[in-house]
Amino acid sequence: LSAVRSLGGGRVVDLGCGEGRLVEQLLSEPAVSEVLGVDVSISALERAEKRLRLDEISERRRDRIRLVQGALTYTDDRITGFDIATVAEVIEHLDAERLDVFADVLFAHAAPAAVVVTTPNREYNANFERLGASGLRHSDHRFEWTRAEFTAWAEQVRDRFGYQFERSGIGPDDPELGPPTQMAVFRR
Ligand code: SAH
Repeated sequence: LSAVRSLGGGRVVDLGCGEGRLVEQLLSEPAVSEVLGVDVSISALERAEKRLRLDEISERRRDRIRLVQGALTYTDDRITGFDIATVAEVIEHLDAERLDVFADVLFAHAAPAAVVVTTPNREYNANFERLGASGLRHSDHRFEWTRAEFTAWAEQVRDRFGYQFERSGIGPDDPELGPPTQMAVFRR
């Protein structure tokens, strides 16, 4: 949210919006003029609708928010023309071999001015006692990246699509393992 604020807000598309937690916060941000939430899961979108009380809110507020079903691995004209795309805790749910297609869809086709990506920092998992056999934080996570792996991906995006990026952390910074969550803010 603070990254979106620093980028100046505007029209925001939240990719993999899930139950709409970030969408809800984005809507309370005056600099954000419009939010489109996209998720592949109908049930998550239904929960988002309830959370956002889309049936009850005022028409003025209703104009700023839309939720649509869509998959991030197919080009989609509905997600073009935005100032900012947020992708919070989503990429680790995509099969690793689909990440290149996802990057094409987002950085080449949708091509927002800025993209905010967050994903777990796998190194920090050493601080968690009760991870399953996979060593990952969630049964649907296909991978979790170290800081170096995330940086390597961000560098690829920079080189392929001409976006600059800045890396940072979210949560308490462990001196050796880094923060629990890592973020990259890309600008075209
Ligand atoms: N951004 C939200 C939800 C993160 S959970 C939050 O921070 O709260 C990950 C979400 O990604 C889930 O809602 C899941 O349905 C969605 N997702 C996974 N694969 C997807 C795909 N290929 N296309 C669109 N959404 C996807």
